[in-house]
Amino acid sequence: MSKSVKETKFYDLLGVEPNATESELKKAYRRSALKYHPDKNPGPENEEKFKEIAHAYEVLNDPKTRELYDKGGEEALKEGGGGGSSAMDIFDLVFGMGGRGRRNREKKTRDMIHQLHVRLEEFYNGSVRKLAIQRHIICSDCGGKGGKEGAVRTCVSCDGQGQQLSMQQIAPGFVTRQIVPCRACKGRGEIINEKDKCKTCRGEKVVNDKKILEVHIDKGMKDGDQIPFRGEAAQQPGYETGDVVIVLEEIDHELFKRKETDLYMNMTINLSEALTGFKKTIKMLDDRQIVIQTHPGEVLKHDDVKVVLNEGMPQYRNPFNKGRLIIRFNVRFPPNNFLTRDGMSKLRELLPQDSEEMITSHDDYEEVQLEDIDPEAELHRRKYMMDDHDGPMGGARTVSCQTQ
Ligand SMILES: [Zn+2]
Ligand SMILES: [Zn+2]
Repeated sequence: MSKSVKETKFYDLLGVEPNATESELKKAYRRSALKYHPDKNPGPENEEKFKEIAHAYEVLNDPKTRELYDKGGEEALKEGGGGGSSAMDIFDLVFGMGGRGRRNREKKTRDMIHQLHVRLEEFYNGSVRKLAIQRHIICSDCGGKGGKEGAVRTCVSCDGQGQQLSMQQIAPGFVTRQIVPCRACKGRGEIINEKDKCKTCRGEKVVNDKKILEVHIDKGMKDGDQIPFRGEAAQQPGYETGDVVIVLEEIDHELFKRKETDLYMNMTINLSEALTGFKKTIKMLDDRQIVIQTHPGEVLKHDDVKVVLNEGMPQYRNPFNKGRLIIRFNVRFPPNNFLTRDGMSKLRELLPQDSEEMITSHDDYEEVQLEDIDPEAELHRRKYMMDDHDGPMGGARTVSCQTQ
């Protein structure tokens, strides 16, 4: 744990570390929300999880409530208030469904949301992906009537309402009243005689259908972008058809990390390269090899950062305009005893000497031991210090911690 928080439950729910950035939180929320969305996976357990995820995201997405939670856990939130939106509202907000009036239109079938994993190379070069979707479409044999002309009758048991009032005696003298789907018509409000039912859809009015959608990922699109297919969701007689919405999710790249149109990477060089210069190739996202090199005489230090212009991600709708490639250098030092005593003194002669005098007498000094420290703990400490400084290299630093 690299950030001191009282509870991690909300972070665990989203599957992120307590130091997750805003965009990491959003990405994690999107992933979990689609997984547990009641439309996709009905069931009380999923519904509960869907709500919990939404609540966790709502709290962590607001810097004020996040701070409260980090300091005092859920207990602090109770006092501080906040977090009152419904899970569906949060979902609609994050997925931008509010504008489409998703839940206000009664006479339209629900939008179907699909997540598509996209490699960084595809965002760079553009790509066409084929996606098979399955949904109900109106039966073409009966035109969505469910049977022959005139075969459909209104259910008399429920008067076409599809619902009935059910009374149940739960104890002597105690009766509960409940609205339940009509048993005679199974909640449909109408009845078709078995022999008159459409043979293709068996009176269901709709049939299963599979369709291949071509998803065009344009150069420069990014994580979270949505590609809508109007009127391709499930069909239902008497309803306008909703949309299929493809949500793009970027797969982490092993070398590059993207931030808007900039690409960040770490490069490890050894000490002699750092001191005497180097020439190296980098394989770009379009398979080109670019060559980078130091200026003559230039010394690179650990954590130095260099920028290559126009080698970042293409700008959406303006792909000839590219962002920057930002390289942070790790200098790898040689292991202990890499040189003989003789070699050491030669090297010392070559390297610049600082002005401080060498210590010759022990009289005035107290000699102490230099001990090793647990490298794991040190790594955590360093990561913690880096995460606290939200510098311009915030994104790439995370990568460096994974690759070291
Ligand atoms: Zn009925
Ligand atoms: Zn039919």
